[in-house]
Amino acid sequence: MTFKVDHVWIDDDALAEPLTGEIVGKLPHARVLVGKEVVEARRSLDLLPDPQARGKRIVRLMKHKGAFAKPCPGTPEYVCCGLKILHIGQGCPMDCRYCALQAYFNRPVMEVFVNIDEMFHSLRRFLSLNPSGFHRICTGEFTDSLALDPLTGLSGRLLDFFAAVENASIEIKTKTDLIEPLLRTECRGRVVISFSVNAPTISRTEERGAAPLLARIRAAARARKMGYLVGFHFDPIIPLPGRQEEYGETIDEIFRLIDPAGVAWISMGVLRFVPQLKEVVTARFGPLRYFHDAFLPGLDGKSRLDATRRIGVYRLLAEKIRRHAPDARLYLCMESPSVWAAALGMPMRSDEELSAYLDEAVQ
Ligand code: SF4
Repeated sequence: MTFKVDHVWIDDDALAEPLTGEIVGKLPHARVLVGKEVVEARRSLDLLPDPQARGKRIVRLMKHKGAFAKPCPGTPEYVCCGLKILHIGQGCPMDCRYCALQAYFNRPVMEVFVNIDEMFHSLRRFLSLNPSGFHRICTGEFTDSLALDPLTGLSGRLLDFFAAVENASIEIKTKTDLIEPLLRTECRGRVVISFSVNAPTISRTEERGAAPLLARIRAAARARKMGYLVGFHFDPIIPLPGRQEEYGETIDEIFRLIDPAGVAWISMGVLRFVPQLKEVVTARFGPLRYFHDAFLPGLDGKSRLDATRRIGVYRLLAEKIRRHAPDARLYLCMESPSVWAAALGMPMRSDEELSAYLDEAVQ
């Protein structure tokens, strides 16, 4: 799969970065805009009926000014997994209809941070500030880890970096099957290549532009064959009537192709969203049935389904996964200790406990 980029916007202070030249060189047919041209293009983009859709073919090359590595913004009300984010850019060429990013950023184009020497410097500093702790780091929080990798070549550089680091792991999380560069690199260090997966019908209808579900699972199997640990994220689970059972088909396919010992973790999270997302999604795609389910305000202000329903869904998936992999390292994304106990039969009382449970998979 490849993603089409037809415009490149370059910030003035990003012009001299070597990665800017590399990316422009890989896009000979794209129109390149700089300085005032970018300001004007941005104004015109905002006047379009759906700037987000158009923005998925525009890459903005820019320098990131803040910290590159930081803790994932958890919520005190729920048990958080202690993941750290390596901020490589934001936005994504795929267009999942439920994508939470639609409500978070008012910049519709895909932003790539080209000051990667500073990124690695910031990462080194972050790790050295807490040398005795272990850090699970992921690049796929505000973007897809691999979607723009053919342009940036970042995944190979990350693997080189993490091969020499003792106290951290890197999770490369994707809805693509663009794993070739990773397969060409010998698996060293603590690396998890993880795939967001869903029920087949939901994947087909809602995950627009993503690799087909089977292609993702096959990519995971290939990565596993090359010695990588793999992970799966069932998130967001969308409990539409008649669709819940379909999650079992995805689980069967995963374990038909991948040995349970190669799976570092499997996360589950039922759809939850900030209220603005529903407005953005409705404006872009019309009313989507699953956004009009019986959502209630959660403790963190996000709309959530009632805990009893969430528990029922988690149990269904967990039972199916445990039939294939009794020792699977399952975890829930942003749920309370009581939901953990009822859904998975596991005590999970604190962020530290969950962090340690997941660290074990990669340490
Ligand atoms: S792949 Fe992830 S970041 Fe990209 S549109 Fe889908 S949900 Fe959003």
